[in-house]
Amino acid sequence: MPSSKKYKILFVTSEVVPFMKTGGLADVSSALTQKLTEMGHQVRIVVPKYGSIDERKYKIHEVVRLKDLKTQIGDKEVSFSLRSSFLVGPKARVQIYFLDNMEYFVSRHSLYEDPITGEEFKDNDERFILLNKSVFELIQKLGWIPDIIHINDWQCSLIPAYLKTVHKNNEMFQSIKTILTIHNLVYQGIFPKSSFAKTGLPEQLNSDKGIIHSSKVNFLKAGIQYADIINTVSATYAKEICSIKEFGYGLDTLLAKRKKDIYGIINGIDEAIWNPEKDKLIAKNYSQKNIADKIENKIALCENFGFAADENIPIIGIISRLTDTKGFDLLQKAFSDIAKLNVRVVLLGTGEKKYQKYFEDYAAKHPNKLSCYLGFDEKLAHLIEAGSDMLLIPSKSEPCGLNQMYSLVYGTVPIVHKTGGLADTVVNYTDKNQDGNGFVFDKYDAKEMVKEIKRAVEIYNNDKATWSKIIKNGMKSTFSWIDSTKQYVDLYKKLAD
Ligand code: ADP
Repeated sequence: MPSSKKYKILFVTSEVVPFMKTGGLADVSSALTQKLTEMGHQVRIVVPKYGSIDERKYKIHEVVRLKDLKTQIGDKEVSFSLRSSFLVGPKARVQIYFLDNMEYFVSRHSLYEDPITGEEFKDNDERFILLNKSVFELIQKLGWIPDIIHINDWQCSLIPAYLKTVHKNNEMFQSIKTILTIHNLVYQGIFPKSSFAKTGLPEQLNSDKGIIHSSKVNFLKAGIQYADIINTVSATYAKEICSIKEFGYGLDTLLAKRKKDIYGIINGIDEAIWNPEKDKLIAKNYSQKNIADKIENKIALCENFGFAADENIPIIGIISRLTDTKGFDLLQKAFSDIAKLNVRVVLLGTGEKKYQKYFEDYAAKHPNKLSCYLGFDEKLAHLIEAGSDMLLIPSKSEPCGLNQMYSLVYGTVPIVHKTGGLADTVVNYTDKNQDGNGFVFDKYDAKEMVKEIKRAVEIYNNDKATWSKIIKNGMKSTFSWIDSTKQYVDLYKKLAD
């Protein structure tokens, strides 16, 4: 039963749309906090105030009580302020506090890396220790005690460690529970052992039993170790990170130990942006009722990618970062076999040079088979979702994945590897399972992938009724943030009641 109790939630994150974004974390931070507020929960966000954030546009103002606060980072005394504004959405306004410190955040436009060298900032340890510590100052100065501190990824993962050690006996913090959401296990906040002294955590944590991993300080390890509950962004990925060594990126043993406290909640999609009925970036809007109009998008897609219009040749779309994790090793291996089928492929993506070169060369040699745009283009992404017949997502691992959800609601049939969020959203269509909404290959293997693509093309060519059914099964899907938010509230309930 969903809880009707309302909670006080302090949501700590390193990015939130529309203020700043490098990845899915920013979308989740924005959508989830708004939905929680709409449902009547009291939510406040804490996020760093990077130099790129427009103070005037967002009406960020000083709060006397939260001005010129001080904390220690190792031997350094650091001053900071927390300044106030609102995240304003269509249905909710969420209180947001910006962590203001010139040296660490305001003087830099980029979030984690030096834009000139492309390397992570050398003082990321100090920058995010400050974010973690500022939260305790905020609570004390406001006298606003949250039921839950919801932390995200490594950047805020020291918070549960501070709560359970440094602040253990502080009356004010006694009842606070923590939840850690892992959006990406690859990034762990790894620093030299010498960074430990800067944290101010007690010496007993300066070991493998604490927050040291492979002789380095590991912020995410602190979160995994000390958060009361952990979740990641799909149920299958939650299982995979606890049971498959290579999915745990070195933290598998620790994750396995916490298995019973690890949950999976799939992200929702932003229906204001990804909805074929209203999408302003596609050639023609359509819905389940007038699915025939989808063809106008296929024609526009052919035009954009330089293919002569031919309604009968299926188009396979790919929108992705060109990396091994996204399955590009498999794709490269299988590509000449895919091209032997009566299909056309459109590829939109950026990523590793070797893959860019391979696909660029292939497209130059076989322009009637493959057309690429190797760049980032929001409008093309929408057109590919609307105009393709199939979308191929062969990821080796996929915490949640958004493209398969978009393609389902756009009536573009996904062909995916059975992993993480892909496994949780795409159901293999078979004669026995007529509720299927796509094609799924179990084993991460080029031949298996080609087999599923062949099966899809076969049905597309020879069995229009079945193809329509698969499309309809997909278009029925809703990936609403309301459902996901309710699941988060259930986790809060587990912790706070
Ligand atoms: P990840 O966050 O791991 O890259 P997701 O599937 O969760 O993968 O989200 C990727 C998002 O980025 C999707 O919305 C996808 O449409 C978009 N995207 C990826 N590459 C491009 C590109 N080259 N141009 C436009 N959008 C892109």
